[in-house]
Amino acid sequence: MEKKIVLLPGDGIGAEVINSSKEVLNAIANKFGHSFQFESHDIGGVAVDTHGTPLPDETVEACKGADAVLLGAVGGPKWDQLPSHLRPERGLLGIRKALDLFANLRPVKGFEKLLHASPLKETVINGSDLLIVRELTGGLYFGEPSERRDNGNAVVDTLSYTRKEIERIVDKGFQSAQLRKKKLTSVDKANVLESSKLWREIVEEKKADYPDVEVDHVLVDAAAMKLITNPDQFDVIVTENMFGDILSDEASVLTGSLGMLPSASLAENGVGLYEPAHGSAPDIAGKGIANPIAMILSAALMLRYSFGLDKEALQIEAAVEHVVNDGYYTADLQVENGTLLNTVEMTEQIAKYIDNGY
Ligand code: ATP
Ligand code: MG
Repeated sequence: MEKKIVLLPGDGIGAEVINSSKEVLNAIANKFGHSFQFESHDIGGVAVDTHGTPLPDETVEACKGADAVLLGAVGGPKWDQLPSHLRPERGLLGIRKALDLFANLRPVKGFEKLLHASPLKETVINGSDLLIVRELTGGLYFGEPSERRDNGNAVVDTLSYTRKEIERIVDKGFQSAQLRKKKLTSVDKANVLESSKLWREIVEEKKADYPDVEVDHVLVDAAAMKLITNPDQFDVIVTENMFGDILSDEASVLTGSLGMLPSASLAENGVGLYEPAHGSAPDIAGKGIANPIAMILSAALMLRYSFGLDKEALQIEAAVEHVVNDGYYTADLQVENGTLLNTVEMTEQIAKYIDNGY
């Protein structure tokens, strides 16, 4: 298979870990006989410095012409004081919009070796393993009007969704469930919100299209509690934008480490964008010690969701799991009697497991 992949390294450790995903993808290409072409473009603070904008047109064009996009991270203290249209985060919001990325997938998987670092280790007995499918382009964050009234003493935010917007994310939830344990939990607030009532109706209608998937509905407040007390009851969660934002940060705590969590942002038929759940980590940028695993697992999601290469994705995930279980770790993790590696060494270790098996 021949694919063109655009790399958007961005800022801070983004630029350090993006190379790790490239190296691991090269190992996969060698092993399975694929050809991946890489092309790098600027986004975020580095793009402000070199092009005067966090999202140059040529970056958008390159992404639209690619088979998939891998993004490191954007932002850092250097750009914090800029006016809002020049902030690095604008680059990220802009590319999400330009590619119409409406579905954000966050797998949350704990590793046995790391669980002692989770504050929830008592409840997370087997390590959690679930996927949150979050709507990314609608809801409160994009609702019009959003304004101050009464001389600034009253406010309005609008939670707006169309049937079409709900249908496509619910479909993505069902399809993701089919790729896993065929169990879907739809999270809403249908006892209060009109938007949630429509959401729930649509999930009920869609059930007929996916008879192999078991579905239940959980109110968001109860879901927040159950994620902590009984995470094993979930496999795939599908939910609207703000609920998904909050629940995915909450769920990340289950694993005890931010440096391990990948994400995928998908369009209906177009290019997907894959990035670690963590940010640019200015406090450790430039030291070469960042954990590359979230970025490497994001590349695995790219193989699965954009290219349909599930076997290859599983190979990366298995290599990561073996490396971690063999006691290799980076400075952000806590492992007793293990082997501490820097970014490059961790990447090489994972690539080696792919090359040679274990
Ligand atoms: P953003 O606003 O971009 O989401 P953030 O404020 O959430 O960023 P991060 O950049 O994600 O912050 O970093 C939070 C903390 O986790 C920092 O101390 C950082 O060093 C650490 N961290 C994040 N990612 C990694 C990683 N891949 N390897 C090691 N440490 C990391
Ligand atoms: Mg953050």
